[in-house]
Amino acid sequence: MASEQTYIMIKPDGVQRGLVAPILGRFEARGFQIVGMKMLTPSKELASQHYGEHEGKPFFGGLVDFLSSGPVVGVVLQGKGVVAAARKMLGATKPLESAPGTIRGDYAIDMGRNVMHASDAVDSATREISLWFKKEEVVQWKSCSAGSLM
Ligand code: ADP
Ligand code: MG
Repeated sequence: MASEQTYIMIKPDGVQRGLVAPILGRFEARGFQIVGMKMLTPSKELASQHYGEHEGKPFFGGLVDFLSSGPVVGVVLQGKGVVAAARKMLGATKPLESAPGTIRGDYAIDMGRNVMHASDAVDSATREISLWFKKEEVVQWKSCSAGSLM
């Protein structure tokens, strides 16, 4: 399984509830690497581009308004099979259908306040990373743990 990158984002409800560290901690603890991270309040334009696939659906306006209502934390995560793994760890879109142990299954009950986003495929990950990050904002690093020192 090749190393991949995906885009995950703590949505405004997750930030407001103090869930940034617990959510990101799950990915770090599992072994995925953070290679890009930023906090911002997205413009409506950016939120609409992010959710472009849902344009025209009845919930689109509310979704864009919500995503641009306050700060989000956007992260580029890297690791073996990270695109599918992040979706599994996130859980189903409807939190009441998400398994306990998943992020939505543990932290959410409302579809419109489901705390986190994760890209659903390798091609959408590529699109979303380039939408939210400039090339130079995604870094490369190797572990400098004691075991790797001379
Ligand atoms: P996911 O976030 O699991 O990838 P989708 O891409 O289908 O889910 O939808 C994007 C977001 O839009 C969801 O996370 C949810 O917040 C919202 N959403 C999706 N479907 C509905 C719906 N039927 N009613 C209200 N909000 C919805
Ligand atoms: Mg989606």
